Amino acid sequence: MSEFYHESANDLPVYGSCDILVVGGGAAGHSAAIAAARANPQAKVVIMERYGYFGGDVTGGYVLMVPALNWRTYPIIRGIQEEWFDRLDKNAPGSVLSPTIAQAGKDTPILVERWSRVFSCTRKQGDKMVLSRSPNFDPTQLRIEMDLMVQELPNIEILFDCWGTKPIVENNVIKGVIFESKAGRKAIFAKIVIDCTGDGDIYSQAGAPFHGKGGIIAENQRDNQTALVWRAGNVDCEGYELWKKANPEAAAAFTQELKNVAGYFTLFFPGGNMNTVWFNNWINGMNCTDLDDIRKTQLMVRNSIRRILDYCKETLPMFFKDAFLMDIAPQLGTRCSRRLDGEIFLTKKTLMENPQFDDVIAWSSTGYCDAPIEIPYGACLAKKVENLLAAGRHISADQMAIGAVQLIPQCCQTGQATGVAAAVAVKDGSTAHTVDIKKVQYILSHEQNVPLPRQDNTDKAMVEEIEAINYGRDGDRPPWMRD
Ligand SMILES: Cc1cc2nc3c(=O)[nH]c(=O)nc-3n(C[C@H](O)[C@H](O)[C@H](O)COP(=O)(O)OP(=O)(O)OC[C@H]3O[C@@H](n4cnc5c(N)ncnc54)[C@H](O)[C@@H]3O)c2cc1C
Repeated sequence: MSEFYHESANDLPVYGSCDILVVGGGAAGHSAAIAAARANPQAKVVIMERYGYFGGDVTGGYVLMVPALNWRTYPIIRGIQEEWFDRLDKNAPGSVLSPTIAQAGKDTPILVERWSRVFSCTRKQGDKMVLSRSPNFDPTQLRIEMDLMVQELPNIEILFDCWGTKPIVENNVIKGVIFESKAGRKAIFAKIVIDCTGDGDIYSQAGAPFHGKGGIIAENQRDNQTALVWRAGNVDCEGYELWKKANPEAAAAFTQELKNVAGYFTLFFPGGNMNTVWFNNWINGMNCTDLDDIRKTQLMVRNSIRRILDYCKETLPMFFKDAFLMDIAPQLGTRCSRRLDGEIFLTKKTLMENPQFDDVIAWSSTGYCDAPIEIPYGACLAKKVENLLAAGRHISADQMAIGAVQLIPQCCQTGQATGVAAAVAVKDGSTAHTVDIKKVQYILSHEQNVPLPRQDNTDKAMVEEIEAINYGRDGDRPPWMRD
């Protein structure tokens, strides 16, 4: 059998055209579409998503905790990311579990004790524990809210269950995308395309340099791990957390054996309330763009679920006696695969030196650095192809730096910023490369509730604190970042 099949040229129906096409509706794509539509209500925005809902890893992969929306007492990550929880608090009370914005960074003992039982809601700052604004949430409620956020904007058109398969590129300028759906294969044209597929599905075929399988540097990434999250209901999480604190050795032995029972590394955390847990897992060496690895992950995890639940019930009946398998995430969990080699390439050195970028579009506290880091627009901008942007977990970063910029907040932030950049470019008739970045920064910081450095509304007290610690450059780093 021949290695290749020659597909003959044919005419494709044109679905339509738009100003801004966002491919992928996860945290990044959803934010990109909304930010673009708000920044330029005259622009026609299309968001194309391969499944029938928004959220990607978040609502479909059941990644149920958004970490560190504050730096010290400052609510540094806001914008569309904080809007999720603001809206959920109002529209679906009880679906979010987190210290409030006002409590974040404080060390009030009674609150620290209360929140130490909830995943990531306290953290070490110097020698004390403080509260962290790290919402744990219900994914189905968020799925509904994300739908509503898009439907409120008449200039966004949704293409659900459509898979972007091939970029249309002419003379190094992207012109649109070919996509597949139940309605057949079609083409859609756009002035600017934002690749938010998480795996560079569009930029990797458009002629833009990238890393990962088939790219410049193909080796495995630090975060090259797949997952299939599942949830158990009727678990006494509060009781378990108290027991864990009082019995650290027994708890460590329990989690070690959990790994043996599963056959891979797994841990559970409360999932939006204190009766439900999500079983996170890290299946090492699996690539989410490899069909064998995709199959292996899903079968391996599903085959292990009953075994794991039985083990929990037998070992910790006081917390798991009435527990039941609630559901299994509808989609594979994907941490990292291809990464863009964009106009600015973030490296471990970048994070250590924590530079100030003229084109900063996000200011981020991830816990990886001792001060907020700046994410530049250039890390979302494809080289060699015009009008092609990337946002989310596949932006331009090396194996180390990607760990600091692929969490949910950073995906929302780069999504929101690229959406605004695309909106400005379309309005001004500029391109993704020539867009007026000052205008983009102004809209983000003054109209879209995104704190940025060096704006006239930047929090001066916060800047003073950052300067006092030399932008965190002298601080300690997690072990994996030191060598
Ligand atoms: C198990 C697990 C645990 C994690 N834990 C945490 C955590 O605790 N906190 C945290 O902040 N982060 C965590 N992360 C990382 C974080 O969840 C992701 O990096 C982030 O959600 C990625 O968002 P995204 O929008 O860039 O990509 P995705 O969420 O992958 O979204 C991409 C979207 O594009 C769609 N799509 C893909 N290809 C195409 C295509 N060709 N055409 C059309 N649509 C397409 C997908 O269906 C999806 O909706 C975890 C990740 C995993 C997998």
